[in-house]
Amino acid sequence: LRGVVALDGPSGTGKSSAARRLAAGLGARYLDTGAMYRAVTLAVLRAGVDLADPAGVAKVARDAVLVQGTDPNRSTTFLDGEDVGTEIRGPEVTLAVSPVSAVPEVRAQLVAEQRRIIAEALAEAGGIVVEGRDIGTAVVPDAPLKVYLTADAEARAQRRAKQDSASGRQSTLDATLADVQRRDTYDSTRAVSPLRAAGDAVVLDTTSLDLAGTLAALMDLVGD
Ligand code: C5P
Repeated sequence: LRGVVALDGPSGTGKSSAARRLAAGLGARYLDTGAMYRAVTLAVLRAGVDLADPAGVAKVARDAVLVQGTDPNRSTTFLDGEDVGTEIRGPEVTLAVSPVSAVPEVRAQLVAEQRRIIAEALAEAGGIVVEGRDIGTAVVPDAPLKVYLTADAEARAQRRAKQDSASGRQSTLDATLADVQRRDTYDSTRAVSPLRAAGDAVVLDTTSLDLAGTLAALMDLVGD
């Protein structure tokens, strides 16, 4: 792969698994931008800063030392030297991540860092698959291929519940559906870079696709 594939969409669309496999299959790098927002959120929770205090949240983000890896076979996230890859997937972080990622200073800081990581990966490996909510609209608006993954909320909640139980977390489908819808609403209505498809993105509905099907559709788009 040469250049950037921008992969956006809400959670539970199969985006992460497909992005990782796509990058590995293409010999490209992979950047999980959601992990970066999650790591900053963990730092905010640890600092005990009020989520309703944007200046306090922005300060925690400025002071945090964040290192996000780009190996598709082993995506790593370090916060202040500690491997936080597991902790950032927990329910506390998932509940708090939308308000933290709505703070404009946090977004400006992380978008700048993402562009730096992308430039470095392009220089080293030639190609990168970047996954998030605003990659095609804000981070890399000139990406040659932008894909926006969608799926029915119920299908997304089912995928999330399956992931939760695979990682030993108990969750009911109702609670997961409510969480998915709450996060969608928050992410789609924030003032800065709300979740939406770029005008020139290919929209791929994964409601009735499994991972192999999603991957095949993405490979087709890359190969075009
Ligand atoms: O993709 P993931 O579920 O890990 O993302 C967690 C949260 O981070 C999203 O719900 C969204 O609030 C935020 N996010 C964002 N912009 C991105 C990636 C994630 O606002 N590029």
